[in-house]
Amino acid sequence: MVSSVVPAGSFCWNPACSQYGLVGQKTLRKFGVTRKGVQRWQCKTCQKVVVATKGTVFYGRHHTPETIVECLALAAERISLAAIHRTKGIKEETLTAWMQAAATHYEAVEARLLTGYQPGCVQMDAL
Ligand SMILES: [Zn+2]
Repeated sequence: MVSSVVPAGSFCWNPACSQYGLVGQKTLRKFGVTRKGVQRWQCKTCQKVVVATKGTVFYGRHHTPETIVECLALAAERISLAAIHRTKGIKEETLTAWMQAAATHYEAVEARLLTGYQPGCVQMDAL
């Protein structure tokens, strides 16, 4: 088991693999990107492929990380879920699920907030 937070692409996720959970072994190699442009990694030992968002709030979501971060940022500003729903068209149940996931994956969200997120003109107008 890993005891600290590391990127998904830094160890093998396959419990049946001899390299499972071993961080810093250079076990994985880059293996293209998904249709949404998310980096994929392949284990050199067992050939299993993972996407870089596995284990984060962004994994398996239909919406882009940018949309998720934007909505979480709005929620953090105490904008009501109903208001976010009206402006962004995201269902309140979906927003709630993102917030619950974000509570357990705050490092990934924070990293996104610090690196790539720039509010667009539409949000600035809304504000
Ligand atoms: Zn493996």
